Amino acid sequence: MRSLIDLHSHSLVSDGVLTPTALVNYAAEKGVRVLALTDHDDVDGLPEARTVAESHGMQFINGVEISVTWRRRTLHIVGLKIDPYHPPLVEGLAKIRAGRHVRAVGIAEALEKIGVQGALEGAYAYSKGGIISRTHFARYLIEKGYARNTRAVFKHYLVKGKPGYFEHHWATLEEAVSWIVGAGGIAVIAHPGRYDIGRVTMLELIHEFRELGGKAIEVVTGSHTLDQYKIFAKLANQFSLAASIGSDYHGKQDAYIDMGMIQSLPESCLPVWHDWPELQGMSLEAH
Ligand code: AMP
Ligand code: MN
Ligand code: MN
Ligand code: MN
Repeated sequence: MRSLIDLHSHSLVSDGVLTPTALVNYAAEKGVRVLALTDHDDVDGLPEARTVAESHGMQFINGVEISVTWRRRTLHIVGLKIDPYHPPLVEGLAKIRAGRHVRAVGIAEALEKIGVQGALEGAYAYSKGGIISRTHFARYLIEKGYARNTRAVFKHYLVKGKPGYFEHHWATLEEAVSWIVGAGGIAVIAHPGRYDIGRVTMLELIHEFRELGGKAIEVVTGSHTLDQYKIFAKLANQFSLAASIGSDYHGKQDAYIDMGMIQSLPESCLPVWHDWPELQGMSLEAH
């Protein structure tokens, strides 16, 4: 079954390619009934996206995807139903965004060492006034012929041990969860299958996340395999955490899966939206 609820997506405010308006229009066209915009470290697109979503009769969920450093690894924590004006969240995200500029300079310098010229300006041109991310460097590297597509860039550049990598410290897990919870939101571990950690470390992460007030895990996401749906459904149940669904849509060329095509949760899962009053009685699946 296809899911008509999608709780993870990106606009131009972070590293997606569509404006918030175009993203929501596209979701509506694809039959999505409930959408969360979850830009990296920024909530700027939410008011515009909400207005457009409401004009289509969709339910819109305020979201964000916060960059976290945990045990020297980068993790992403999604916040759903946040108040985007909550001061500690606003200030925390502003600090992360300031760090992104510092890191971008470091990435550009690292790329210059292997002969890539103009990467800082090139990446900023792709960011179009939104946050600066490795995705924008990836687009510049593709433009200059260093790689064929985004996947190839992230195999050969910008990651640990490869040219263009620059170590950076994001928010702590504790900060991210506390900003989200403080803002009245629900903290969700994004795409756990993408973290290159062993089972023991994964259990420790989930345990710590729950102790801090985290409530859910993304079980179905664009970058998970069918096996990973099962693995993380089981882990969510084991830890009494709810389960979330998100395409993690960034735009056509970077899509794991098209908008509107993400699968429903395995039946054993408790949906993260199970007690959201605005969704009661809504049909959230299609064939
Ligand atoms: P940043 O937050 O600046 O480190 O950039 C991370 C972003 O790069 C992620 O949110 C993805 O959109 C993108 N990304 C990372 N790894 C990959 C990959 N292997 N394939 C495609 N996109 C990726
Ligand atoms: Mn991204
Ligand atoms: Mn992510
Ligand atoms: Mn994402």
